[in-house]
Amino acid sequence: MLNELRLPAIKTMWPQFSQRADKEGWPAARLLTTLAEHELAERHRRRIERHLAEARLLPGKTIDTFEFEAVPMVSKAHVMALAEGNEWLENANNLLLFGPPGGGKSHLASAIGLALVENGWRVLFARTTDLVQKLQIARRELTLQAALNRLDRFHLLILDDLAYVTKDQAETSVLFELIGARYERRSMLITANQPFGEWEKVFPDPAMTLAAVDRLVHHATIFEMNVESYRRRQAIDKKQGPGRPPKYATAAKTNPD
Ligand code: ADP
Ligand code: MG
Repeated sequence: MLNELRLPAIKTMWPQFSQRADKEGWPAARLLTTLAEHELAERHRRRIERHLAEARLLPGKTIDTFEFEAVPMVSKAHVMALAEGNEWLENANNLLLFGPPGGGKSHLASAIGLALVENGWRVLFARTTDLVQKLQIARRELTLQAALNRLDRFHLLILDDLAYVTKDQAETSVLFELIGARYERRSMLITANQPFGEWEKVFPDPAMTLAAVDRLVHHATIFEMNVESYRRRQAIDKKQGPGRPPKYATAAKTNPD
């Protein structure tokens, strides 16, 4: 019966709990409540597990392993607030991360995505060129609208490396349609190593570039992560060895965390 009712947690747990209930003389309501609570907790766990699998986040990139000292312009408190999701995702606000390669944009984007999934939100992390390619195929097959609708189930769509979209990819303008479709409805987190001024090759023409940027920034938080490559700095630190000045000597005083 429990199989048919799709209550797998109760199915595995009821013998153990009913035995305990008999021995300790639990009221019937307590046994029923305990079993129902376990089923709900298990359901919640499985849902998060599914959302984690569908999110395609970068493995091992968490907020805990992100060194905020290395990016003094980004406050940990601000990121922790964004990781809760509530307000900005409900209002379909965007988050834009700019900065040169190696500055931690992808790491931070994926880490925020992970925290959001753990808090019950649905997220998709995609390299922008890959997603654009998929949408181009959909357009050719006349299923672009359906493909865009399917992305609606994600509260947050992370487009990593927007500026790597190539000229020929830009020409079909699927990225422009994606931005238009999500505008004021669903959030996007975009990383790019080039600020807006350099985006003309991402969209088919200057008017579209302007319109896309306008929609993206209308309700957005922007982190300018203008720091030296984390990898490069690590390599230099290794070479210098112990007893040298601390690696973030200039950053520490401006960072509140
Ligand atoms: P970007 O996307 O800006 O090019 P990445 O996020 O790919 O940079 O960072 C490059 C590497 O350095 C990754 O392995 C990342 O985990 C690491 N990294 C970058 N910034 C930090 C940081 N502040 N704390 C910890 N690791 C970092
Ligand atoms: Mg990156």
